[in-house]
Parts: sequence; structure tokens; C-alpha cells
Amino acid sequence: MDLRKILHSVFGYETFRPPQDEVMASVVQGQDVLVLMPTGGGKSLCYQIPAIARRGVGVVISPLIALMEDQVTALRQAGVKAAFLNSTLDRAEADHVEEQLLRGDLDLLYVAPERLMTARFLSLLERASVALFAIDEAHCVSQWGHDFRPEYIQLAILAERFPGIPRIALTATADEITRREIIERLRLGNARVFISSFDRPNIHYRLAQRRSPREQLLRFIREEHPGEAGIVYCMTRKRVEATAEWLAEQGVTALPYHAGLPAETRQSNQARFRNEEGVVVVATIAFGMGIDKPDVRFVAHLNLPKSLEAYYQETGRAGRDGLPADAWMVYGLDDVITLRQMLESSETDDAHKRVERHKLEAMLAFCEQTDCRRRSLLGYFGEQRDEPCGNCDSCLEPPETWDATVPAQKALSVIHRTEQRFGVNYLIDVLLGKEDERIRRFGHDRQSTFGIGSELTGTEWRGLFRQLIARGYIAVDVQGHGSLQLTENCRPVLRGEEKLLLRKERKPTRKRSRTEKP
Ligand code: ADP
Ligand code: ZN
Repeated sequence: MDLRKILHSVFGYETFRPPQDEVMASVVQGQDVLVLMPTGGGKSLCYQIPAIARRGVGVVISPLIALMEDQVTALRQAGVKAAFLNSTLDRAEADHVEEQLLRGDLDLLYVAPERLMTARFLSLLERASVALFAIDEAHCVSQWGHDFRPEYIQLAILAERFPGIPRIALTATADEITRREIIERLRLGNARVFISSFDRPNIHYRLAQRRSPREQLLRFIREEHPGEAGIVYCMTRKRVEATAEWLAEQGVTALPYHAGLPAETRQSNQARFRNEEGVVVVATIAFGMGIDKPDVRFVAHLNLPKSLEAYYQETGRAGRDGLPADAWMVYGLDDVITLRQMLESSETDDAHKRVERHKLEAMLAFCEQTDCRRRSLLGYFGEQRDEPCGNCDSCLEPPETWDATVPAQKALSVIHRTEQRFGVNYLIDVLLGKEDERIRRFGHDRQSTFGIGSELTGTEWRGLFRQLIARGYIAVDVQGHGSLQLTENCRPVLRGEEKLLLRKERKPTRKRSRTEKP
């Protein structure tokens, strides 16, 4: 069947949003694809339409039960034969769906990953006619990410068990590391990759030094978003409760949300947020996936998120309706210390820690930079942009800077000279000309870059490397060694065609001891 016809007759839309049409064409031809598209971009149609067009059922793997049910309801209203299988169905209901599946009476079947991976269900699928597998929220396969679901790892076996059936993986998380991990873990080596722009032009990004967070937050809400819906993220449960209570005392309709609250409280607070106007939810990151309220006017962070992926996802919950919205954050050095401590004291292995450390550094660099926030955020996701956006704090109130072009060239050269095989500490030792057995063994003490970096301290070099990572000039190897690698983007700086201005280092703030539980 003609894809455009399905778009008109079933979904009532006039035109595809690129690259939807190309994605669908590939899937219909039986190709594996990976789709990276921001939230609200239109990922669902990319598998729904091919599932309807191709013979057999499209099996959609989704970790979010609530979204699964919403989608199935909407599809049925549009006349599509859709069903779901998850833990909310009783035995008889599940049996009924399985019969429909075997009779070839379904266009789309949504399944939770743990359900799909049972031996029983897999053999059932082998007897059914399957049009495609869609793996939604594919970043859940990433062990480094914050939405990791162990069941997702097993989805790799779909490639072996169903070799002729196209698989389409979709995610709104687009950084290079996650992308490579999805491809590897889901065996999508031959997949065509589609990357849409991740820009959210209606979101205004603004970051400030944290001084008195409550007053800063209250002023922000009162002056810029009175009576509007918003989300305030805090790092700890205790802070969530205290902040919600305090805001409520100040006359803001504020409700707490974190995983430690009773299920009924969480549900009712989430329902009020969705259904009432002007509710502010104060939450930990437990308040997240699956919120699709369109008119969230602001997302405020009182603490630094762990990574730019998290920041992008959390701030992305603002302004889904396309109207102006604010991503506002106050942060302090104590966030960094807390996050580091959490990271170092966690049970995970060294390779994990290294990657998480680099993600954190990129987050920090984003905070400290002088360049357009949007340009750097998109740069982190591999998207290059020439013009500053005009809708972030750096664009609207340019900060004080210093010219770091020459040190940056040195840093990039030393990566190049050491064959992109070393981590930041080693590189800094080379730049500073440190006497070191390893450096001598590799012969890096005899190269021209040895000791050329005495104008900066080790700490300043770290800051510079962080900035370069955040801007996408340098990539971090995930395979475990944390070695730094040059990207295409760094060439203009190396050639001296691009001047690099960095934000002047901030004075350290008071340190706070960590006694709160995350
Ligand atoms: P995502 O899964 O990427 O977050 P959705 O698939 O939920 O996004 O789509 C977001 C919204 O855009 C939905 O309301 C959807 O119906 C709409 N949409 C998707 N594709 C088109 C299109 N080609 N034309 C018009 N609206 C579209
Ligand atoms: Zn900008």
C-alpha cells in the first residue's frame, strides 16, 4: 500500500516530516534502521505506517506501559488493528491477543521487553507473520545511560532469530556514545542511520550561579511564570520535599514527586500536574519518561544533572507545544563535588566510572562556556550549527572571556601526536613536560609537544579539555580506556581559522558536606 495514502487516510496528515518518508521507505524495503529524533519529532509514524503497509504484524517493543496503552487506544480510534501485551492484562485478555496475533489479525502489537523475550512468546512469534520489529526508547540498551533496562540487552537476539525481518530502533537520545552503543548492542551494524535536528528553538536556556536557590527560584517563578505549569528538579528527595513545601507556603501550587513517596501520592500528584492548570511539580529525576504534557512552561534545575543527555531530556519536557518556554538552572561547585563523590563511591566498575566522569565533565563545560548554549548542546549531540541562536543567556548577555585558541591548539596537537590513544591525565602530563616513566617508554618526551603547555596549570588544562569535549572538538572513547580523540569539528581550530574564547574561571564557592541521600 502507498505510504502517503496511509498517512492521509489513517492519520489525517498531509505531508511527511523529513526524514519520516525516507525512514519508512527503507523499512518497507526490509532494511534495518536507527532513527534519532527529538521528542515530539514524529518517531511513532516511522514504524506504524510501514507496519500497516507491510504484510504481517509490526511488533513494537516499548518500556513504558502507560504510553503503550495510549498509543494503542489512539490507533484503534483511527481504525488500526492494534493491541498490547503487558503485565496489566489478565490471562484471558492476553490469550485473546495471542490468538489475534496467530490469526494475522493485527497490524501493530506493543509488547514489554521482558514479555517479548520469553521463550514462549518468541516461538509464538515464529509462527506468526511479522512485518517488522520496532525498538522504541532504544537508548534503554545503554548501560551508561540513565534509563538502562537490562531486558533491552537481550533484544540483540532478534537479529539471529528473525534474520529477514527489518528492525527499526528509535530514540530521542542522540549523543555519539549512546548511538554507537545502540548499534553495537542491538546488532545494527548494517542499519541506515537517520539523525534529525535536535534543536528545540522555543526553549530559552539560562544558567546562573547558585546563591540562595529558594529565593532565586521563587523570583523566577513569580516574575516570569506566575500561575504556569513547570517542573523543578532537585538532586535529593529531602530537597524535593523541603522545596515543594516552601514554595507552597509562598503561594505556589507545588507538589512533590520522588520514588520514595507512596504510589497513590505519586499518581495523584502526576494527575494534578497533567489535568490542572499552573501546577509546579518539584521532583527528582524519577519524574521523567512518559510525561507528555504539552504546555509545561519551564523546567528549573536546582542542581546539575549528571550529563548533558539528562539535561537535554529533562529540559526537553518544557514547551512541547512549540510556544516559548524556559530551561533555567542554578548550579554550584558543590554540585560537582557531590556528583563526583556519588560517582566515585558507586559500586560500578572503572570503565563505567570513566565514562560517567567524562559525561559529567561535558556537563560542567556546558555550564562554564561562553559560547551559545544551544550551539554547544547540539554540538555535543554531533549537530553542527554556524550561527549563535539568540535565545540563550550567552547570546543575550555575553559573559567575560579569554582567548584560548593557542592552548587549544596545543591540546589538540598533543592528542594527535600521541595517536589519540591516551586519556586526559596523561595528555596533561605531556603538555606540562612531566618526568614520567610511561611517557618516556612511549617516547612522548622526545616529541615537540612535550612540555609546551607550561602557561596553564593542570587544573586549567582540565578545564580546557572539558570545554573542548563539550564543544565536540574532542570525542571520548567509550570502549573503556577514556582516550581522547579528535573529531572533524576541531580542524578549524587546529588550522587557526577559528578563535576560541572561553568563559573566565569562576571563583570556587563554599563547599558543603554531603549528608543527604539521593
Ligand atoms: P515522538 O515519538 O518522536 O516523541 P510522536 O510520534 O509522538 O513523536 O509525534 C509527535 C506528534 O507529531 C504527534 O502528535 C504526531 O501525531 C505528530 N506528527 C507526526 N508526524 C507527523 C506528520 N508527518 N505531520 C503532522 N503531524 C505529525
Ligand atoms: Zn544562543
